[in-house]
Amino acid sequence: MSGFFNISGKFGSKTKPKRSTSSVRPLFLCQPYCNNSIVKGNFKTIVQLPKYVDANEWLAVNVFDFYNYINMFYGSISDFCTARDCPNMSAGAGFEYLWMDGQKKTSKVPAPQYIDFVMSWIQTLINDENTFPTKDGRDFPPTFQQTVRAIFKQLIRVFAHVYHSHYDKMLSLCQEGHFNSLFAHFVSFGREFDLLDKKDIVPLQELIDIMDSNGILC
Ligand SMILES: [Zn+2]
Repeated sequence: MSGFFNISGKFGSKTKPKRSTSSVRPLFLCQPYCNNSIVKGNFKTIVQLPKYVDANEWLAVNVFDFYNYINMFYGSISDFCTARDCPNMSAGAGFEYLWMDGQKKTSKVPAPQYIDFVMSWIQTLINDENTFPTKDGRDFPPTFQQTVRAIFKQLIRVFAHVYHSHYDKMLSLCQEGHFNSLFAHFVSFGREFDLLDKKDIVPLQELIDIMDSNGILC
């Protein structure tokens, strides 16, 4: 258990949400972009635990893929996510995340730095044989699912920052269909294995509602 709580010191925290004063609808919630997706149908069969596969193994493989894909998408727009343009790790009006270090000290850091901290932290966990065992005979730690929840909590913040601050770049790169599909996959997987808290999804709740009405989420 202690290992998990040490890790939890790095999870970051959110300032009190303030009511949004902006009346401009974010691009990612506008038609037709919010309905663009390369995957049609429903993610249920894709996220379900396959027969004869260990549940932790399934979580580990999917976390690895989500991490890599989100990293790749962020990499495609990272030239536009600078300390000058994104001085805070924001996720729309009223949502700003503070980074919490190993000593549980919170600090306000620019979005690119926050995201770099998140990605480095996840990479370290994935490379840690005690957290993500790859060798025969090694078991997953009892805290593994809590660690995966903590990773999901941080990854959805990266999604939220990209959606709220850089979606115009996603559109100019014609990536919105892929990005929406990745997000729908991520949310469906999170639901299937109870990896996302209600409060974590608030900045993207409206998009999730639209995707729910399209029947794409499981
Ligand atoms: Zn940014």
